[in-house]
Amino acid sequence: MREAMIVGGGLAGAAMGTLLAQRGRTVTILEKSAAMHDTVCGEFLSREAVVYLEQLGIDLRALGAVPIEGVRLFANRLIAERRLPFAAMSLTRRVLDEALLARAEEAGAEVLRGRRVESLVRNGDGWTAQLNDGAEYSAAHAFLATGKQDVNGWARGRGSQNDLVAFKMYFRLDAAQQTQLNGQVELILFPGGYAGLQMVEGGVANLCLLVTRAELQKHAGQWERLLCAMQEASEHLAQRLQGASALLERPLALSAIPYGMLREHAEDGLWRLGDQTAVIPSFSGDGMSIALHSAHLAAKIYLNGGTAEEFQLQLRGELRPAVTVATMLSRMMIAQPALAQVARLWPPLLHHVVRQTRVPASALLNFQESV
Ligand SMILES: Cc1cc2nc3c(=O)[nH]c(=O)nc-3n(C[C@H](O)[C@H](O)[C@H](O)COP(=O)(O)OP(=O)(O)OC[C@H]3O[C@@H](n4cnc5c(N)ncnc54)[C@H](O)[C@@H]3O)c2cc1C
Repeated sequence: MREAMIVGGGLAGAAMGTLLAQRGRTVTILEKSAAMHDTVCGEFLSREAVVYLEQLGIDLRALGAVPIEGVRLFANRLIAERRLPFAAMSLTRRVLDEALLARAEEAGAEVLRGRRVESLVRNGDGWTAQLNDGAEYSAAHAFLATGKQDVNGWARGRGSQNDLVAFKMYFRLDAAQQTQLNGQVELILFPGGYAGLQMVEGGVANLCLLVTRAELQKHAGQWERLLCAMQEASEHLAQRLQGASALLERPLALSAIPYGMLREHAEDGLWRLGDQTAVIPSFSGDGMSIALHSAHLAAKIYLNGGTAEEFQLQLRGELRPAVTVATMLSRMMIAQPALAQVARLWPPLLHHVVRQTRVPASALLNFQESV
């Protein structure tokens, strides 16, 4: 029997596989996608994510990542603008996820693509996964890193903000609009939701948004109608998208996201990583940092002989403040968007929000030193 299987090879799964393989452990990553693919994500890499990716040996600049230096908050027009208190980057997930899986393989992990885990069961002292092709896979330890999707029998449960639907679309902007957007992440409020807009590599802009189900229904559930309504509500967004061309045939969409979910305990010794253990509202741009941090913390505790429950308790303590504050703000931005005007009267607010919704600096790990 193998020592460890990791179900899901996104950020958390690939990072975990790399860290275990680097320490000479036999580990297999089971990933359902057979090849590069797009993912619903704003693709903002906060400082914590950048640091963890560098530690894993990922050269973001060589992959084409672009720097993000400032944040702007808009409703109809600009409300507030600040320089970010850290250096952030932006890179498409189709490039980043592949680079991480390649890194895991290079470190010695076995990476099996096109393998969807249909079920995962406790089997005596180990775990058995049933795959989509009917095959079974067993290992002594299991790490669940399927992100936004739950595996049968291992539902994450609800968060405290569950009524949002996410859309993502890539655009080629008009040259002048692209110049103005370069180096910035723009958070745009509109009735019933908010959107993030930023450049990724290749001169492409990523528009990623969240809208309540009720608001989406007002537009017959249709992306085109929603996008028109957003531009009517935000002069700024209309300006950014003037003359822009959409680069995907249709937007990527995602629903049933349990924002605010923070796992209390481990069940049956199962290690849950990334979005399987905590889901922070997307405006914070810290979900990827959490995924990477959870993998680093789990690897540290696992390699030192600790348990999944010890990992879960420590992670919960570290993340609770950021997840709680971010969820409260996310609900407020949708229910009381006028309150965002406070940032116009007191500009440091934006700086505080950015700081309070991150993995705390004191929790970050330098893996080489900590294991
Ligand atoms: C609208 C939106 C915008 C966001 N914007 C940002 C942002 O700008 N910055 C940021 O830091 N975070 C952002 N996030 C959060 C971020 O995307 C997630 O927190 C992060 O991707 C979690 O990583 P993960 O490894 O846990 O899961 P994922 O990245 O979802 O990876 C899970 C992997 O598991 C695989 N998988 C799923 N089911 C199975 C199965 N049954 N068998 C085998 N494999 C399986 C998938 O194919 C995938 O590769 C955003 C999220 C949303 C919804």
